[in-house]
Amino acid sequence: MTQALLWPWQTSFYERLRQAHAQRPAHALLLQTAAGHGGEQLARALAMQQLCRQDEALACGHCRSCQLFLAGTHPDFLTLLPEEAEAPIKVDAVRQVVGFLQQRAQFGGWRVVLIDPAERMNVQAANALLKTLEEPGEQVLLLLLSERPSDLLATVRSRCQTWILPRASGEQAQEWLQAQGGGEWTTIALQMARAAPLRGQALLAADWPRRRSTLWADVQALHQGRRDAIAVAATWKSWGDPLTLSDVLAQWVEDLMRCQRGLTQDLHHPDLVADYDSMSVSIQAERLHAFWQRLIAVRRDLAGHLQLQLLLETLALDIARWSRRGGLR
Ligand SMILES: [Zn+2]
Repeated sequence: MTQALLWPWQTSFYERLRQAHAQRPAHALLLQTAAGHGGEQLARALAMQQLCRQDEALACGHCRSCQLFLAGTHPDFLTLLPEEAEAPIKVDAVRQVVGFLQQRAQFGGWRVVLIDPAERMNVQAANALLKTLEEPGEQVLLLLLSERPSDLLATVRSRCQTWILPRASGEQAQEWLQAQGGGEWTTIALQMARAAPLRGQALLAADWPRRRSTLWADVQALHQGRRDAIAVAATWKSWGDPLTLSDVLAQWVEDLMRCQRGLTQDLHHPDLVADYDSMSVSIQAERLHAFWQRLIAVRRDLAGHLQLQLLLETLALDIARWSRRGGLR
């Protein structure tokens, strides 16, 4: 049961959190998580255990409550998510939570609310939640999951007990992804995922580790003036995931900047160090830095696929101008 409900790197932490919560129940937990390390899974395991009819350390998975939970239809469990990616959680949604908590629990026990990601609540929404955080009522557990708790209102944060959820260690991530069938691509997937195992799994599923070689060859060819930026941008667009693309580009630029300063430790992609070395001498540091800033600046537009072809062309053209030799083309 443990394996099904929690990721391997979460089990001992979960036990600590559960014991602390059993001894001194808090009505609101702020769970600080890192992207790709499966925080949502742990929050849901806590919710399920709180609602389970059996008194076990981990939800039994068999009782009526667990069955409803797993089916996503438990009447005493409410999840608050943004309506769409990047959208805020608005005050109407929080009013739903308040209404939900004013009713009796259908199972006569706990009511649990999961807000994910909590930092997505806008100010009105967060303010509407304050009173509930102060007086949640009996047998109520609010779980606020957040990758950026500093973006939450301080008044919300201070009313929650904060826990920092564990990340998978490099070894755990490697072992786990290998077991998921990562094979020879495991290491590269984790490099691209900045060591986050679930992100690595998603990249593997989308064939990104293999595609990385093509993308890297494109970058080198652009830099050496051997490929046309417009054509390259069209290929990049056809891959359909400009955010991942821009993230990998950012990792390479960060690596190149480090190599230019003679720092070859802690690279995102250590397997490319020989390429970095031969490239970095012919790259102007200011242009590399300007490109990195542009990458950060266009992320939101890339996420919304606004003027995608144009943006990718701009990036490809920028790479073609990294060179010390070429002037502005
Ligand atoms: Zn159960």
